[in-house]
Amino acid sequence: REQAANRPEWLKVHLKTGPNYRDLKGLMRGQALHTVCEEARCPNIYDCWEHRTATFMILGDICTRACRFCAVTSGRPTHLDLEEPARVADTVVNMGLQHAVITSVARDDLEDGGASVFAATIRAIRERSPECGVEVLIPDFMGRLEDLQTVLDASPDILNHNIETVRRLSDSVRSKAKYDRTLELLRRSKELRPDIRTKSSIMVGLGETVEEVLEAMDDLRSAGVDILTVGQYLQPTKKHLLVEKFYTPTEFLKFRGEGLQRGFAHVESGPLVRSSYHAHEQVQRAGGL
Ligand code: SF4
Ligand code: SF4
Repeated sequence: REQAANRPEWLKVHLKTGPNYRDLKGLMRGQALHTVCEEARCPNIYDCWEHRTATFMILGDICTRACRFCAVTSGRPTHLDLEEPARVADTVVNMGLQHAVITSVARDDLEDGGASVFAATIRAIRERSPECGVEVLIPDFMGRLEDLQTVLDASPDILNHNIETVRRLSDSVRSKAKYDRTLELLRRSKELRPDIRTKSSIMVGLGETVEEVLEAMDDLRSAGVDILTVGQYLQPTKKHLLVEKFYTPTEFLKFRGEGLQRGFAHVESGPLVRSSYHAHEQVQRAGGL
């Protein structure tokens, strides 16, 4: 089967750096905080940073789960860093961000799954950078609605929770997360706070059929999800799931059309699309909701 060594041409990234990117790169040097953009060597960093969008990982870098597509280290997380929300907010100011994405590992060891730290981080950013869009990409909090409510009470602009894959593959690809629990969390978020846009992402290339992807889109729309991203799964290391298929850029365009037809306010679909790719545009274009 095809693997990283023989990736198709459209997955090769052509570097193009602009003034904003160079600016932020310089600013990040010497910061105690790291962005997912740099740590994960995200191929979109030039584009996102040029548009002053970045993703931060809070609550440490060790996850209590072990999904078979994900390169984050699993194990027992370390202590909780209570200064983190303020530090993220400082970095957002220093980077002059227009859109900040906050995400975390799954902290099943914490009573509230880290929901209060998400809320504190949103509030700290709002206080210091009122103009900055704030998106949270949350874990499922084991389905606890009170933790979802804690995050929603801090009023992020976008509540993002990834479905990751189609129903049939969900249990074998994700660790502990459940397809229906994800849908329920997104549905409840829309019910509790209709003014907050909801968003979800699907990775393709894990052995799903096109019909199954379309079914997942239908399920997300039934849960009231506003924004959808579809991207190619790439195997982070040899220990992770194999890539079953590389979709062509044309196939991704078709997914985009199918998504828009189903009523998503914004769809990003492409080989290198990641959950936070072009996040700044997602706020703008879905703004009229
Ligand atoms: Fe950072 Fe997300 Fe953009 Fe990648 S897609 S560079 S992780 S903001
Ligand atoms: Fe990676 Fe999230 Fe799964 Fe943890 S829960 S292994 S961070 S995808």
